Amino acid sequence: MSVSLVLENYIGGKFVPCSRHVDSYDPSTGELYCRVPDSGVAEVEAAVKAAKEAFPGWSATSPAERARVLNKLADLIEARLEDFVQAESKDQGKTISFARNVDIPRALYNFRFFASSIQHHTTDCSQMDHMGCINYTVRCPVGVAGLISPWNLPLYLLTWKIAPAVASGNTVVAKPSEMTSVTAWMMCKLLEEAGFPPGVVNVVFGTGPRAGDALVSHPDVPLISFTGSTATARVITERSAPYCKKLSLELGGKNPAIVFADADLEQCISTTVRSSFSNQGEICLCTSRIFVEQSIYPQFLAKFVEAARQWKTGAPSDPLNHNGALISKEHLKKVRGYVALAKAEGAQVHCGEGVDDLTLPPRNASGYFMLPTVITGVADSSAVMQEEIFGPVTCVTPFNTEEEVISRANDVRYGLSAVVWSRDVGRVHRVAQQLQAGLVWTNCWLIRDLNLPFGGMKHSGIGREGGKDSYHFFTEVKSITVKH
Ligand code: NAD
Repeated sequence: MSVSLVLENYIGGKFVPCSRHVDSYDPSTGELYCRVPDSGVAEVEAAVKAAKEAFPGWSATSPAERARVLNKLADLIEARLEDFVQAESKDQGKTISFARNVDIPRALYNFRFFASSIQHHTTDCSQMDHMGCINYTVRCPVGVAGLISPWNLPLYLLTWKIAPAVASGNTVVAKPSEMTSVTAWMMCKLLEEAGFPPGVVNVVFGTGPRAGDALVSHPDVPLISFTGSTATARVITERSAPYCKKLSLELGGKNPAIVFADADLEQCISTTVRSSFSNQGEICLCTSRIFVEQSIYPQFLAKFVEAARQWKTGAPSDPLNHNGALISKEHLKKVRGYVALAKAEGAQVHCGEGVDDLTLPPRNASGYFMLPTVITGVADSSAVMQEEIFGPVTCVTPFNTEEEVISRANDVRYGLSAVVWSRDVGRVHRVAQQLQAGLVWTNCWLIRDLNLPFGGMKHSGIGREGGKDSYHFFTEVKSITVKH
């Protein structure tokens, strides 16, 4: 099948064709959408060289100058917002509404936030004259940053890395997911006009095992910021270990929501449907285990299933739909496999997969769609309750005591996020402090102050990013002692 959209790498301020390509599909139709460079060692080598050459100049610019360029890029993307929205939806399968309200606005905000925050950091200085010396710290950019991002929030997560990396004075080689590369390529078209000197931002497209691996194992890339699965993070850790690279790993989750009997049920149910199924459940922070206090369990379950059925799935262009298509045929099969496993283990599926009919417009008949699915009766030890499904599937289970639910919520290898629902302020604090999660929301979900650290515990990651944490990750600190 011929396809008109063929992407090129962006290296040293120029678009460079690649001799090999991989196919990328529109998940809502199953049709071929574009051809993405299948870069390898040679392309990554060229990009790293360009980034290395640009580093002395860019790292010498002032934070205010870098901020000006970042803000200009945000303005340029904003002026083409609708083009980016349409492209993100077509590439990823998400609804146009989600791309318009979440993905692209957040990408703009990433640039604007770090443009501002980079101008407000201060370093430490010891207050006292210690042994006749004044002591202070300075922070310097690290060099060429390797940035690798996943397919679920393509431009949103890529810019979450590019913005702080270049704001801190580094130059970058970024590799988006091979399944969702289009908006990154569109952004590249605007970099020169924004004022980025050639080589400051390089984007190399391709698969993990080829382009990703070449970046991770390149000796001149001292820092890797990775968002993706825990399995890939293991490989990246091994491959970068010989070079003692600085690593930031933002990984998967198996996030609990804990609903106490005194919760505001109406608010809790509408938010928990959103936290379970938004973006087809393809957000690392999505809720996939819901623990409900026994006394309200039947009432919660009935209302939750009813609300899940109202969460509409269908053509991404229809503004009435909450969910579009899952990323790929393989991923849909994997997610469905967990529902089949739950059934085989004796669980009950209350709505969605295998229970309700999904009606699609003829154009979307071969798309990778799946309805929000609610499951009960799964053992905590089941793979369905332990592994990240990353689709529109959530399990609901009752609990009796606070102590019990904390222990069960923590009984997974992941530790990314959690939600606690209760009107009891003391309990909210007590439970939040005992949960093993990098982020705990209480009576809300996905509200993010970008100044605060973002990241996971246990197998959900290493390190934190966000205002000051990103600045610390993307710089090296030096202690200076001056004898006077
Ligand atoms: P993935 O790990 O398969 O791929 C992520 C990126 O890594 C892609 O760009 C891929 O090409 C690249 N990659 C794959 N193998 C590589 C290798 N050997 N060397 C270097 N790079 C390699 O993840 P995915 O399926 O794209 O994304 C889904 C996962 O991402 C889920 O586990 C989800 O929870 C996680 N995620 C985490 C966060 C977070 O902030 N914690 C946010 C979004 C997604």
